[in-house]
Amino acid sequence: MSGPTSEGPGSEGDPAVSESGTVAEEFRQLYGAGPEGVWAAPGRVNLIGEYTDFNDGFVMPLALPHRAVAAVSRRTDQVLRLHSAEVPEGVVQLDITALEPGSGTGWAAYPAGVVWALRAAGHPVTGADVHLSSTVPTGAGLSSSAALEVVVALALNDLHGLGLTPPELAVLAQRAENAFVGVPCGIMDQMASACCTEGHALYLDTRDLSQRQVPFDLAAQGLRLLVVDTRVKHALGDGAYAERRAGCETGARALGVRALRDIPYGELPAALGRLAGQGEEVRRYVRHVVSDDHRVERTIALLDAGDLRAVGPVLVEGHASLRDDLRVSCPELDLVVSTAMASGALGARMTGGGFGGSAIVLVEESDAEAVTKSVEEAFAAAGLTAPRVFPAVPSGGAHRVR
Ligand code: ADP
Ligand code: MG
Repeated sequence: MSGPTSEGPGSEGDPAVSESGTVAEEFRQLYGAGPEGVWAAPGRVNLIGEYTDFNDGFVMPLALPHRAVAAVSRRTDQVLRLHSAEVPEGVVQLDITALEPGSGTGWAAYPAGVVWALRAAGHPVTGADVHLSSTVPTGAGLSSSAALEVVVALALNDLHGLGLTPPELAVLAQRAENAFVGVPCGIMDQMASACCTEGHALYLDTRDLSQRQVPFDLAAQGLRLLVVDTRVKHALGDGAYAERRAGCETGARALGVRALRDIPYGELPAALGRLAGQGEEVRRYVRHVVSDDHRVERTIALLDAGDLRAVGPVLVEGHASLRDDLRVSCPELDLVVSTAMASGALGARMTGGGFGGSAIVLVEESDAEAVTKSVEEAFAAAGLTAPRVFPAVPSGGAHRVR
């Protein structure tokens, strides 16, 4: 993979263009002049392949129209000034030579971590003025953090002429989140934000980052993919993620493979037999990861055959596996899935890390309204905050807007 990392200023049809005028104007008011450019990077939903990206496995995200927009100018000194329209505290000012893992706090650690990761990799990045504005809901499992990282990485790449490819930028952004912010995420979110293309899902092998853009034209088939943001985030998520990760590593070690991705689906029963001494948890985790990798393969085959409706049952199976084997769902996500399925959806599952956040629901376009209403009513009847429901329109990845 080579070539330019962004395709130059966005086209007339790019909705980010008009929005970027506002962000640029806010930048001028904040910093007095500029910006040199404006970039955008989207959030994502994952169609299938959950908790597989730290097992060298397969994922299938698509980018959302929701995105982080960054107006950026280079500075000649070592000062990094960061501002977010969504954060009331004002400008955060940092010395880039003093950045080190763990030194960042709060939201600014995400963009600062990118500057740190670029410099740690030997790229000649100087200070910068940055103003961010994002429409990606935060903490909803839709990768607002990756959007923030990738948009800053792309902006600095373009401004400094670093010549890094989108996957290279994604890897640096992941490094920022892992090592600088301290969140042990896989590579899916950053790759989705950097590499997705309009009208496609991204079939990604997280071992070697090889990828294929798979046509995912829902509208042409009279279908819709709804995102249901439950607006809950249960606190136990962080520790549970690390625990699942460690359990998967234990399983891979016990099976003598580099990662669980190396267990073919056909060998799953034998592998589970060999894990008899490892305890029930590790076996459940292994069963989820190996079967979800297989569900990605099945989904690809269905999409390639143009049989989008048949993806529905695969999503439902994936949800059951996340709920029962990995145990990362929660009552609110289960309620979305059961209600949607009972009211005529083709398929549904939680997406992202779980313990709250969002679910996706595949529906006939003609049923979208009724299914949405059923889910909203079920939430109201359970005394829950109303969920946020919107269609996932497969959108383009990170790019320069102006
Ligand atoms: P997700 O990536 O699923 O939305 P994370 O917990 O990984 O959830 O990332 C959310 C964090 O990213 C927020 O708590 C905040 O620190 C940062 N963030 C995301 N969007 C913005 C924004 N527009 N402005 C400032 N910080 C943001
Ligand atoms: Mg995140």
